[in-house]
Amino acid sequence: MARPSNATEAWSALAAGNNNFVSGTPAHPRQDAELRRDLASEQKPFAALFGCSDSRLAAEMIFDVGLGDLFVVRNAGQIIAETIVGSLEFSVEVLNVPLILVLGHDSCGAVKATLDSTKTPLATEGSFIPQLVRRILPTVETALAEGVTDLDQITSRHVNDTISELMERSDLIRSRVESGRLGVVGAQYRLEEGLVEPIAALGLSI
Ligand SMILES: [Zn+2]
Repeated sequence: MARPSNATEAWSALAAGNNNFVSGTPAHPRQDAELRRDLASEQKPFAALFGCSDSRLAAEMIFDVGLGDLFVVRNAGQIIAETIVGSLEFSVEVLNVPLILVLGHDSCGAVKATLDSTKTPLATEGSFIPQLVRRILPTVETALAEGVTDLDQITSRHVNDTISELMERSDLIRSRVESGRLGVVGAQYRLEEGLVEPIAALGLSI
């Protein structure tokens, strides 16, 4: 298959790779020693992925891609921060990726902890863990105010809010999407099925 060169092709490649993973027939492409040597001098990933750190969300595995394919940025609960926006801007400006994928997942511990914190105050020994909850809380509070209590629905809203925040904070990413040079897809990963379900798209149709 030709290397994806625009957002639509990049999304198609990711969807096809995920299909291989879901059906249990991964091709495990681009993981050989020869390619590793060829890539050492330059990387040209075809997409950036910003997702939750959850160990079950292994980026290259769930999309059946290989070395040099994805520029991956992850943290617990996929929460926007200056360093995250900087990493994604780097992938767009320097590496020229045509697609950013924002990936959440069902049963996300970070979103669940935030939801739980609205009933029982969060108690953690780590003094920075509450920062994660604090950043997801506005999404949870808005959902609860609208009568939405389902964890996976709230997680889906969090993916959408994450994309909105990325577009607000990065002039580069917003302008590239507006000029048609960059696409952004939001998706939800289903842990049991291994399926990536798209829930939002900017700059391309899916
Ligand atoms: Zn998670």
